[in-house]
Amino acid sequence: MGQELVGELRRRAAEQAGIGVWNAFYAELLSAQVALEPAVIIFPPSKESVQERLSRRVPAVPPEAVHLDPPLLQQSWQRVCSITAQYHAELHTAVESINRWAADDDGRLAQAALYYLRGELELLSQPAGLDPSLFQFLMNQTCRPFLRRLAQAVAPWIDLERWYQPYCPVCGGEPDFAVLRKPHGARWLLCSRCDFEWPYRRTSCPFCGCEDPEQYQYAPSEDNVYRLYLCDHCHRYLKTLDMREVLGERLLPVERVLTLAMDIAAHEAGYTGM
Ligand SMILES: [Zn+2]
Ligand SMILES: [Zn+2]
Repeated sequence: MGQELVGELRRRAAEQAGIGVWNAFYAELLSAQVALEPAVIIFPPSKESVQERLSRRVPAVPPEAVHLDPPLLQQSWQRVCSITAQYHAELHTAVESINRWAADDDGRLAQAALYYLRGELELLSQPAGLDPSLFQFLMNQTCRPFLRRLAQAVAPWIDLERWYQPYCPVCGGEPDFAVLRKPHGARWLLCSRCDFEWPYRRTSCPFCGCEDPEQYQYAPSEDNVYRLYLCDHCHRYLKTLDMREVLGERLLPVERVLTLAMDIAAHEAGYTGM
């Protein structure tokens, strides 16, 4: 699966003009993550515990139970930081500051990962004066190989029809991409953290629950393949691929990267993503 992602991204990115540097950057990150994945050791919770948690509408794996082997976490972090600084010279100083903060104490990186998984990374970045969105990005990329492996392990135990919540049933993460599937356009969300996919209502905003058609709308791409869902209640956006408009299969983690132009358009229009 991993190598397939990298190959697909390289192939499809070559067809895209204009945002080549961004595609190369993400292809490099994805390669690093795929290379790391086989070394990740996971301790998935039992099937019973997963199902008991899901029945309470709580994600299968609590943040404290995600095993992040310290040397491997360190290795992942260093790769992500160096690739980011290499492709984005303008971020070099900010990446350095975060990296220095993380290196200051042995437990810092594990602590940051835990705060990230709890959705509380700002509690660390703010007092330390670190760029919160960059820190969030670096942590998201660093933890992805660990969370992807975990998601693959617990996936068979998740009853998708019974979950139906706007957050990820594996890790509790928010979606950052969606797909409308054939034949009727049922919406599936893609977890921004572990790449797990699960179905959720199409007519409501997964970030705030808004169902007002006046406030929750989408802008289609010219060829109707993509939709940019915009919520005027919480001002968040969701990139969406309409599979009814394409032939063959698409890999959502690749689609997420190939649609950076939509992120830029949404930000310029005043909407926020993650
Ligand atoms: Zn997840
Ligand atoms: Zn909303």
